[in-house]
Amino acid sequence: MARVNHWMGQEFAGASTRTASVTNPATGAVTAAVALASTHDVARVVDAAVAAFPAWRDTSLARRTQTLFGFRELLNTRKTELAELITDEHGKVIADAVAEVSRGQEVVEVACGIAQLLHGAVSENAATGVDVSTVRQPLGPVAVINPFNFPAMVPLWFVPVAIAAGNTVVLKPSEKTPSASIWLARLWEEAGLPAGVFNVVQGDAEAVDALLRHPAIEAVSFVGSTHVARHVYETAAVSGKRVQALGGAKNHMVVLPDADLDAAADAAVSAGYGSAGERCMAISVVVAVGPVADDLVTRIADRTRALSVGSGRRDVDMGPLVTREHRDRVASYVEATEAEGGKLVVDGRDWDVDGDASGFWLGPTLVDHVTPEMSVYRDEVFGPVLAVVRTESFDEALRLINANPYGNGTALFTSSGPAARRFQNEVQVGMVGINVPVPVPVAHHSFGGWKNSLFGDTHAHGAEGVRFFTRAKVVTSRWGAPSGGVQLGFPQNT
Ligand code: NAD
Repeated sequence: MARVNHWMGQEFAGASTRTASVTNPATGAVTAAVALASTHDVARVVDAAVAAFPAWRDTSLARRTQTLFGFRELLNTRKTELAELITDEHGKVIADAVAEVSRGQEVVEVACGIAQLLHGAVSENAATGVDVSTVRQPLGPVAVINPFNFPAMVPLWFVPVAIAAGNTVVLKPSEKTPSASIWLARLWEEAGLPAGVFNVVQGDAEAVDALLRHPAIEAVSFVGSTHVARHVYETAAVSGKRVQALGGAKNHMVVLPDADLDAAADAAVSAGYGSAGERCMAISVVVAVGPVADDLVTRIADRTRALSVGSGRRDVDMGPLVTREHRDRVASYVEATEAEGGKLVVDGRDWDVDGDASGFWLGPTLVDHVTPEMSVYRDEVFGPVLAVVRTESFDEALRLINANPYGNGTALFTSSGPAARRFQNEVQVGMVGINVPVPVPVAHHSFGGWKNSLFGDTHAHGAEGVRFFTRAKVVTSRWGAPSGGVQLGFPQNT
């Protein structure tokens, strides 16, 4: 049985004997045991990050940039290898796994420009003979804690920026999809990153809590479900750390009567069932406004029925869910919806699957006439279940979204400029798509939701990412100008 270990300059097993099983969701087979770190194991990995920090912080921008360019080249050449690892633990189809790596690679490419992004500011003669400069310095060792659904992209939202800015990193992957982290660690090593700058600690809640409480960890970037994000935010903040904790989502896609209904139906199906709905930016609710509803639901249903489901290694549209427990949890919402009065238009529970019978299968499911009281609307389902809510008006659709506790992503489909303008202006959601169903920002902008989808002040990557992983220092200096003698009054600038 393969074992997935921790990494600090090289693989190490740790002292803890606790492990968790890693499964291939397409076959149900246990493929590896992942180490679950104890608090003591976490402390050892953090020690490596602490030891590497002083030299890395003082490594020139030129050297750091060269390492990032090297990493980018290796990643670009070998991304299919990483994608296959992801598919075998997560279940998503290979093309989707390649796309996830490519989106992570975009952040590496932006971080290659760190010299430009870290430019400070200088004011010459801010007072007579006095210059003032602002510089941004790295924080120290930082922790990145990952969810199961993007084993490469989510770490790459944070790690390249943190490293480029001069920090050292401890990554805690999801115990369900741990192998990508070690693959990335080897790639960093091959790119010439010094030992201890990028480290991995495998584990569960015990490892997370040890990182949150470790005095040497300066900042925490967390991505996961809302209840854990809230816990991470509160615990890290109380421990005096900088923290950004990205949580769950419930993303609505509003379709107005003037929308191109074929484009909207294509978008709803792609964004609802891509990666089996296991994306924080998946569309889980289609809001059909006014008279379009019947026509729209028919078009979505036709497309949904045409989807193929099977092993992500085969030529199919959608793979399995990540674990049997998660598959059963998602299926329980389909059962509940029927009992609560929703209308099951497409039932994914008995799908004809191109894969092993023991895989964690659930086909795409479409439910119409969903109301905000139903559990399939209230909860984040995180699976291939698309709910249709019908509203009388655009106003009612906007109110629905703004009343929702989550605010990660949303989309509007329309041909009306004024409607689009009003939507983007009034909707209380962090990432908005206009005729774009999955509005994940490009890497040089920042990614983050509002409300229960993000706890903290700063979003991921882009300018906000650089700000998160650095702190400002302002230097006021006088060289050569006369001191002006003893003056006990508060210094005034003249
Ligand atoms: P999760 O919250 O179960 O796990 C996330 C991380 O927290 C894992 O590393 C896990 O080991 C750790 N963890 C789990 N329980 C913990 C506890 N009690 N105490 C401390 N640590 C704990 O999330 P998941 O199921 O792996 O991922 C899916 C969730 O992530 C969904 O809610 C999804 O919306 C969210 N997500 C959000 C974004 C975003 O950008 N907002 C992106 C991807 C995923």
